[in-house]
Amino acid sequence: MSATLSTRQERNALLDRRVGTKNARGVPASDGGGRVGVLALQGDFREHRTLLRGLGVEASLVRTPAELDAVDALILPGGESTTIARLVRSSGLWEPLRARLMAGMPAWGTCAGAILLAREVPGLDREPLGAMTMRAERNAFGRQIDSFEEPLAIEGIDEPPHGAVFIRAPVFEALGAGVEVLARLPDGRVVAVREGALLATAFHPELTDDARLHALFLAMVSDALTGAAAREGAHKSAGASG
Ligand code: GLN
Repeated sequence: MSATLSTRQERNALLDRRVGTKNARGVPASDGGGRVGVLALQGDFREHRTLLRGLGVEASLVRTPAELDAVDALILPGGESTTIARLVRSSGLWEPLRARLMAGMPAWGTCAGAILLAREVPGLDREPLGAMTMRAERNAFGRQIDSFEEPLAIEGIDEPPHGAVFIRAPVFEALGAGVEVLARLPDGRVVAVREGALLATAFHPELTDDARLHALFLAMVSDALTGAAAREGAHKSAGASG
């Protein structure tokens, strides 16, 4: 079991070490290995990739529209949502990413990534991607407890509870009818949701060694792609016979 982040110093050290605040453009380009991509403009995309690798999936890093074209699903990592929102635009990914999300590409946002997926984000200085019918309240836990760890029961994940790491985390509110709650804090606030093939977690599974959320997302991706292939097949055979 991992330790509680007890002091402010420890929490800040974790944030600096794991989430980071630097633009990651200097890092070598995608290995092009997988069909699951991780948006790699800023934040803890490397940690997502490491956990996926542990599950036998070689994810590619997505920094350009061409790299986005090459993936079937995308993880938007934790980091700083204002920075990622800016870089998504300057990298030319804004339009194609929105279009892919609207067309049903499976995606998972953790913390800042979840904020970007929301339809409404008070205080974000740019429009979010808006794929999920919810409001993300940024930094919902205030300055005094900006980081904490909480054992969390999550729908679709068996015992034991996931040791969820929250760092300046949002909560999800004003959920649309199609949004399913997967986890709440003991006080009732919603911290994990699913809407179709979209997953959002206010916490950071990528900063733990528990890959069960990643496995859950991969199952969602596979379901979505199988469904899409079946629909495509039905469409083609309907076209051929008609
Ligand atoms: N509070 C940050 C934001 O608004 C998110 C922090 C995180 O991803 N750990 O972007």
